[in-house]
Amino acid sequence: MQEQTILGHPKGLFILFFTELWERFSYYGMRAILVLYLTKETSDTFNPGMGWTSAEALSLYGTYGMMVYFMGIFGGVAADKWLGQKKAVIFGGILIIFGQFALAFESLTMFYSGLALLVCGVGLLKPNISTMVGGLYKQGDGRRDAGFTLFYIGINIGALAAPFLVGTIGEQINWHLGFSLAGFGMILGQLVFVFGKKHLKDVGNLLKHSETESHLASQPLTKVEKDRIIVLLISFLIVIVFWAAYEQAGGLMNLYARDSVDRIVFGYEIPTSWFQSLHALYVVIIGAPMAWLWLRWGRMGKESSAIFKMAVGMIVMSISFLMLMGAVYDASINMLGKAPIYWLFFSYLLHVVAELSISPVALSFITKLAPVKYASIMMGTYFAVTGLGNKAAGMLGVYAQKSGEMTAFAIIAIACLIVGLLLFTLVKKLKVLAHNAEEVV
Ligand code: GLN
Repeated sequence: MQEQTILGHPKGLFILFFTELWERFSYYGMRAILVLYLTKETSDTFNPGMGWTSAEALSLYGTYGMMVYFMGIFGGVAADKWLGQKKAVIFGGILIIFGQFALAFESLTMFYSGLALLVCGVGLLKPNISTMVGGLYKQGDGRRDAGFTLFYIGINIGALAAPFLVGTIGEQINWHLGFSLAGFGMILGQLVFVFGKKHLKDVGNLLKHSETESHLASQPLTKVEKDRIIVLLISFLIVIVFWAAYEQAGGLMNLYARDSVDRIVFGYEIPTSWFQSLHALYVVIIGAPMAWLWLRWGRMGKESSAIFKMAVGMIVMSISFLMLMGAVYDASINMLGKAPIYWLFFSYLLHVVAELSISPVALSFITKLAPVKYASIMMGTYFAVTGLGNKAAGMLGVYAQKSGEMTAFAIIAIACLIVGLLLFTLVKKLKVLAHNAEEVV
């Protein structure tokens, strides 16, 4: 039967695209107001919060961010062993809806129950929907990377819209209404998934349905599969360094933008929080052109393996931190002690060029290399590793408070450079160890 496509990709991709767009809307929407809600005084008559200190709120925020991604491992195990990815996505979506609406109540018990439901829900949904994208493409299908980039653009449309909508309603009208809006976002995602499931018949099912598949599920791993898992684990180490650098944007860079960057443009002072949407905006704008460039690059016969792209990404990330060092230097010689805003715009643009060379590429790479029966577990491990990167980012931020931004940025730039250069030298070896997984047709 002829495959039904939209923009040259299987129709199912767009079901996953919109489901994940709304899930991320819900995730980033809630995240945008969480700390603000926690730290708002209880005595506020208009829109009271919880009255926590900043340190308490940031600590909970960090723990929540870590746990959400760590739960991905259990979400992956649940899908591979018992549910299959499709059911895991549905259960995850339901838990998220209940979680967001639990936050709509003004009670501490409901608040913590809501967070716990969100952690379990995202842990079930996020890795498994990502693995399903890979399932839409056969081994060797050249559209896979581009498919993941499209999916990634969907993620960022959700991430871009959420702080404006959920943030504005939560902050200016009522926090609980904001959390409910995040819940409604997930309801939309769930509806897209449930009604679009007919386009996902062959993906995300539990490997045990037919006899041959159950035979496959009980086979020990082959040498090729083991080698490929080693390559994946090595790439996960790189990913920690990348996210540790990238996630500075929400922490240290956020404070730096607030205190040490001249944000006045044409007489108007750009609010610091707007910079939080800049990454997502850049992804939406340059995501497709970049995927197209990589495709052309590959078609010209040049090296375009995932490892190579990740190496390029790490070098670009290193350059972006050199730019931030430029900003710190500029600020030090400026009379007001502030750096010009263009450093931030350019540096964040490079962050996103790096992100697009690493993050969707890693997702795609995992679906190429992981043995089918461990596909979701490997994806879940990847997200857990990104959680570690987030944690490391926070620790670097704290370090910078003591030793200054220049030192912290320099450490990050050097770390990214070393990892990037190391990867360049290893591209060929890792491709051999992966048994040329990317070229199997
Ligand atoms: N920003 C991406 C998302 O929300 C990647 C997150 C991650 O890999 N930790 O999906």
